Amino acid sequence: MGNGWIDDARQRKLFQRKLLAWYELNRRDLPWRRTQDPYRIWISEIMLQQTRVTAVIPHYHKFLRRFPTVHKLAAARESSVLAAWSGLGYYRRARTLHAASKKTVKNFAGKIPNNREELMTLPGIGPYTSAAIASIAYGQPVAVVDGNVRRVLQRLIGKPAADRQVWQTAERLLTHENPGNFNQALMELGALVCVPRVPKCASCPVTAHCVTRGPLSGIANKTPQKKRTISYALNCRNGSVFLIKRPQETSLMPGMWELPQAAAGNIATTPILSLRHSITVTDYKVRVLREPISVQSSGTWVKNNRVGTLPLTGLARKILRAAKII
Ligand code: SF4
Repeated sequence: MGNGWIDDARQRKLFQRKLLAWYELNRRDLPWRRTQDPYRIWISEIMLQQTRVTAVIPHYHKFLRRFPTVHKLAAARESSVLAAWSGLGYYRRARTLHAASKKTVKNFAGKIPNNREELMTLPGIGPYTSAAIASIAYGQPVAVVDGNVRRVLQRLIGKPAADRQVWQTAERLLTHENPGNFNQALMELGALVCVPRVPKCASCPVTAHCVTRGPLSGIANKTPQKKRTISYALNCRNGSVFLIKRPQETSLMPGMWELPQAAAGNIATTPILSLRHSITVTDYKVRVLREPISVQSSGTWVKNNRVGTLPLTGLARKILRAAKII
């Protein structure tokens, strides 16, 4: 079948029915799928932006135990929000979420808006997140396009497409009867079946509607990862560990706590710990050394039993866990 079927209402209906039936049987049981609460759906969407589903689940529960409502989140101190976010990384998301919760309370009396236009007035909510909240929480007929949906739709129509065309295709295919489930079904298909490198076309519910039935040539599946080595100094004494706070004026993770970086040239020193850490397109080999701290005058000794309450960078948390300090 060519992609002309998208203009045929009967074929679109058939596509929707097959996809939704597959979703009912195959959807993962995720905590944010058991609720219609727009606040919880919003939190999950922000957490999922740059973090894998399995990593998000425990943080989602922890964050909502700490801030069960938008009012509680809006009233919290930023340091508490960052501490509850710790381990998820990309702390800008936590800051904009916090700012958006305050704006929701101030401008919308604490009620999460039910339409894209108002949702997009909130910090950190763009075309994707506004469409996800509006359709999933409120059943509004708006299409959602994330990376998974973009890949699925391009394979379905059999050619690379510009953003505008992908959004138009998603809107054309959307069912107005159950838009929230339809959007989630298309994303789920991309996550479980129409996966980046080797799509599982043999078990795809919409293979009859797909032009490509395999990876689409001409589209890069993944950005190549860069490799870097980075060294940190871990110093402990009398039940305390030496940490530094990132400057407030830095653009990346301002105000977060981390270990001091070890001096360059220490590459010959045998590390006490080695681990791996990935951030977007870079894979880090992380070496943790014992190194005198005299050059780190801006740091401070923090009692081990207080360390876990600080907003730590994801990497600092990883190192301190590996060293059994938290
Ligand atoms: S048939 Fe294959 S390429 Fe096409 S949508 Fe299904 S899994 Fe993706």
